[in-house]
Amino acid sequence: MSAGRQDDADGLLSALQRLLGEGGVLTERSDLERYETGWRYGRGRAWAVVRPSTPEQVAEVVRLAHEHGRPTHPIGANTGLVGASNPDASGEQLVVSFERLNRTIEIDAVDRTVLCDAGVLLSQLNEALAPHGLFFPIDLGADPQIGGMVATNTGGSRLCRYGDVRHNLLGLEVVLPDGTRVDRLSALHKDNTDLDFKQLFVGTSGVYGFVTRARLKVAALPEQRVAALAGVTNGEAGLRLLQHLERSAGEFLSAFEAISGPALDAVLEHGADVTDPFVGASRRPEYALLVEFSTTLGVERLDLRELLEASLLAWCEADTTAEDDVVDVVFDGDGESFWHIRHQISESLAHDASQHGGKVLGFDVSVPRARMAEFTSRARELLAARWPFVRLCDFGHWADGGTHLNVVWREAEAGAPAAELVPAIQEAVYDLCVRDFAGSYSAEHGVGPHNRSFQERYELPAVRAARLALARHFGR
Ligand SMILES: Cc1cc2nc3c(=O)[nH]c(=O)nc-3n(C[C@H](O)[C@H](O)[C@H](O)COP(=O)(O)OP(=O)(O)OC[C@H]3O[C@@H](n4cnc5c(N)ncnc54)[C@H](O)[C@@H]3O)c2cc1C
Repeated sequence: MSAGRQDDADGLLSALQRLLGEGGVLTERSDLERYETGWRYGRGRAWAVVRPSTPEQVAEVVRLAHEHGRPTHPIGANTGLVGASNPDASGEQLVVSFERLNRTIEIDAVDRTVLCDAGVLLSQLNEALAPHGLFFPIDLGADPQIGGMVATNTGGSRLCRYGDVRHNLLGLEVVLPDGTRVDRLSALHKDNTDLDFKQLFVGTSGVYGFVTRARLKVAALPEQRVAALAGVTNGEAGLRLLQHLERSAGEFLSAFEAISGPALDAVLEHGADVTDPFVGASRRPEYALLVEFSTTLGVERLDLRELLEASLLAWCEADTTAEDDVVDVVFDGDGESFWHIRHQISESLAHDASQHGGKVLGFDVSVPRARMAEFTSRARELLAARWPFVRLCDFGHWADGGTHLNVVWREAEAGAPAAELVPAIQEAVYDLCVRDFAGSYSAEHGVGPHNRSFQERYELPAVRAARLALARHFGR
């Protein structure tokens, strides 16, 4: 590095230290490590990490970095799954962590909204909302920050009832790449005055600016939650069940998740504190469907468990093939043990792989939900024909057409190294999904280094032109 460049770097560091004070700037390698390594994917190298604690400090950090020509990279709770949460490998990026920007949580129970800092964790927000009988209804097996959730437009398991972050967002405050702070913290539920500026920052991974605060819609906490696990012998039966439930009790349905037989088996083998829900059944299910009902009505006004049982029974009686298709239907109070199984699938597959020298290749894809069963069957056939040593362990949010296709194999049984197999399998599965089923190669985790090449493969030229023009407009 030239002396001038070094002086400039030292000057920026000193200015940041003066601005942020004790613990606000990290430069020691051992301190940087946790910001450089992703939850599942991603490994980079930071120039330094800053931890501002107010929106004004974020704006000043970005302004200073911009003035010194230093690239910045935002990081939330680091739970993202596409390698986008961490800095790149250059060692040049200033990582802006939002973990200290977590003091504001202003609840308006009448308006059913909350204004909160970007660094507030989902769990922290829900803890503050609970005494008001409210919650932020995006539910997932991780604890992200609100800013990270906006930047990735997080979906979650109850999307079929409440929608994703985009559907629950009223306003945003952002800091643009030159340090300009823009307050669009609207509390309006209706506002059709042309461009909806905040949407530029939803699901776009912080490329156009950093989220510093958000105004969110929140929901009433349910009084009752009940769940059942329906084992079926084929995916089409699962889709018929979904249709039946939406027709007969749609306003109560809050989750409809599918767990394939191989995914369930992996949890039974490697998960902690699990018992087989279908232990007495004469057949193994191809899919276990987690059906959840919830309501704000108290049990004295409506027995939700009874309604769920009646709805499932009515389906078994009405569906002419139900006798062949249904393995068993099991209940468990609020469904805690079923969600416990659901949330342990990825870790169980990873555990199995590490124990047996295996590989897990994950896909986060979506298709029109009516075609979900057909799509997974076609994916299974395609894999069996070209790579007979792999297994498909899929699970996902079937009510919104999302599925996690996990392709699993033992390295010793594979005919080629993973480095060769991975791109070939990815291309085949994504092509099937996007080109043959009009699906998405990234249903909920966003676009990052992990799947950037597929954005290039499938993005329409007009969309790319608009995206690049916006990036230029924001100086990126
Ligand atoms: C076990 C597990 C289960 C999951 N389940 C789901 C699921 O069901 N549905 C779902 O949608 N996702 C799911 N995810 C993915 C993940 O939780 C989300 O992508 C998450 O919301 C990201 O938030 P974060 O705070 O961790 O952000 P990070 O991972 O730190 O960052 C994610 C992206 O946002 C950018 N970013 C972070 N903060 C800001 C900010 N303040 N301003 C601008 N950009 C910012 C980062 O640069 C990065 O590009 C799951 C993850 C795990 C580990």
